[in-house]
Amino acid sequence: MDEPTGPKEAKKERVLHTRVPAVLERELKRFAEKLRIPVSNLVRTILEDAVSVADVATENVEQGLKRAAEHLEHERERLKKRIEQHDPLAGVVAFQEVTLAMPVSCARCNSELPAGTRVHLGISDGRDGREGPRVFVCGTCLPRA
Ligand SMILES: [Zn+2]
Repeated sequence: MDEPTGPKEAKKERVLHTRVPAVLERELKRFAEKLRIPVSNLVRTILEDAVSVADVATENVEQGLKRAAEHLEHERERLKKRIEQHDPLAGVVAFQEVTLAMPVSCARCNSELPAGTRVHLGISDGRDGREGPRVFVCGTCLPRA
C-alpha cells in the first residue's frame, strides 16, 4: 500500500537509507564519537553542509552525502565548527540542578520533562554571543567527568 501523501506528510522528516562503504561507516562513527553526538546528527549536519555549499540543483541527497563524506577527512575542523553551531549546549559553561515549574524538553535528547522534575539548567558564560531560550538537560544527558 502506498503511504498517504499530502501537505501534512510533506512536513515530516524522512528516514534515508543509503549504502556507505564499511570504511566510511567506521569513519563516521569514529568522528561522531569524538564529537560525542549521534551518528545520525553527524550525517544530517554533513548533508545540510553539503546542501548549503554545493549547487544541488542536479545533485541528489545520496550523491551529496557521498561527496561530503569523501571530504570528511579534510573538512573535520569545518564540520566540527558547524556541528558546534548546532549544539544546543554550545556556550554552556556549567549546569545547575533546578526543579521545573513548567514542562520543558531536554535540549540534548528532546525527551519531555514534566513540571516537578529535577533537571539541570545550562549556564552560559555570555561571551560567545549565545542567545535564545534557556537550556535544560535531563540527568541522562548531563555531561559526566
Ligand atoms: Zn536528555
